[in-house]
Formats: sequence, C-alpha cells, structure tokens
Amino acid sequence: RRIVVAIDGPSGSGKSSAARGVARRLGLRYLDTGAMYRAVTWWALHAGVAVDDADTLAARCGEPVIEVDTDPTAPRVTVDGIDVSRPIRSREVTNAVSLVSAVPAVRQRLIARQRELIGDGGIVVEGRDIGTVVAPQAHVKVFLTADEDVRARRRAAEGLAGMRVEVDLTRREMARRDRLDSKQMMKASDAVVLDTTDLDLDQVIDEICALANE
Ligand code: C5P
Repeated sequence: RRIVVAIDGPSGSGKSSAARGVARRLGLRYLDTGAMYRAVTWWALHAGVAVDDADTLAARCGEPVIEVDTDPTAPRVTVDGIDVSRPIRSREVTNAVSLVSAVPAVRQRLIARQRELIGDGGIVVEGRDIGTVVAPQAHVKVFLTADEDVRARRRAAEGLAGMRVEVDLTRREMARRDRLDSKQMMKASDAVVLDTTDLDLDQVIDEICALANE
C-alpha cells in the first residue's frame, strides 16, 4: 500500500514506539525525522560547530552525509558512514537539538531529504511538522499528546542512552525542549488528536491502525 501515516507530537508522547509498532503491523516502512535532526546535531558537536551559531550551521549543514534506514525493526542512522543510532540519544544531543532544528537552512535540507525518503509512500513518518509541512498529503494524520507528568516519567524510564535520569530533571529539560520546539510543532487542522495519557502502547497502535484501515 502506498499509504502515508503522519504522526506528530511532543517528546514523550509515545510517538516513536507507536510509529514503529504501526509500521510493523501494517508492513510499512518507518521514518524517524527527529533522528535526522539529532544526527546533524551530533555532527555539529563533533565537527566543532557551535550549536548556537546559526550562520555557520546554515553554511555547513550540507557537509554531513546522513543516511537513515527505514526498516521499523532496525532503524539505523549514520553520519558519514558512522553508526550514530545510540549517540544521537545522548543527553548532550537531546539538549542541543532544538537549537539546530530551529535553523531554517537545516530544516530545508532535511525536509527535502525526508520527502525523498517518503517517495511514493508505504511509510509511517514521525516528527513535529509531518502532517503540516513535510507530508500535508498524508492519508492519516495523528497528533499524539499526553500529560506532561506522564511524558516526563516515560522519558525518564527510557533512560537517556541507557542512563537513568531523575524524573524532575527530565521534566525540566523536556519542558525547555518543547518550548524551543513550539514554532516547529504544529497540529494539522485535519489531524486526529490522540491523548495517550491513559492508553498503553498496544491501544495506541490499535487506534492508529484503525484509522489507517478506514
Ligand atoms: O522526536 P525527537 O525527540 O527525537 O526529535 C528531536 C528534535 O528534533 C526535536 O526536539 C525537534 O527540535 C527536532 N524535530 C523537528 N522536526 C521534526 C522532528 C524533530 O524540529 N519533524
């Protein structure tokens, strides 16, 4: 099927697990657009480009070669051939990514690449601006939300890059990232809002698959 399923929402809303689960169940590819912004951020930190230097980021963001695997069972991201799937989840990258993703040239470049990867469909795409900007033609658009407390607890339990972080600190860092991301994060007017506060992962996947099968 050439369907495009767009899943947007803030951090900790359960996007990644839901998007991967839906892709697996429906036999679709999977694209994590946040991983691409994280990959550029990882590259900047390693290339010595200051993440608050928007001009240099704009001038040099075309340098790293970013490849993403769209297999939902093993989504892998590489930068210049280096597997960065784990390091892009580090706290350092997580706390810097919003600065990098706010640079218009970075967005332009990644959005063009995301559209290439979407191609003629058959894919579940997760992010912040998928239903509005990247793929406004998507057949199914879902906007996931959840109470801030629940989101912080989920994030802390995931443990950033395997490390357990206190819920309080996670909550503060998450709130800051959401604030910085708010310009990018938009609910499409035709998106279905799904509050995942009281739902478990299977229920979320069921709901989205039901929308896709309508
Ligand atoms: O989804 P995830 O938390 O991995 O996204 C990391 C960051 O990438 C977000 O905080 C946001 O700054 C950026 N992002 C974005 N647009 C997207 C996906 C992610 O700006 N479509």
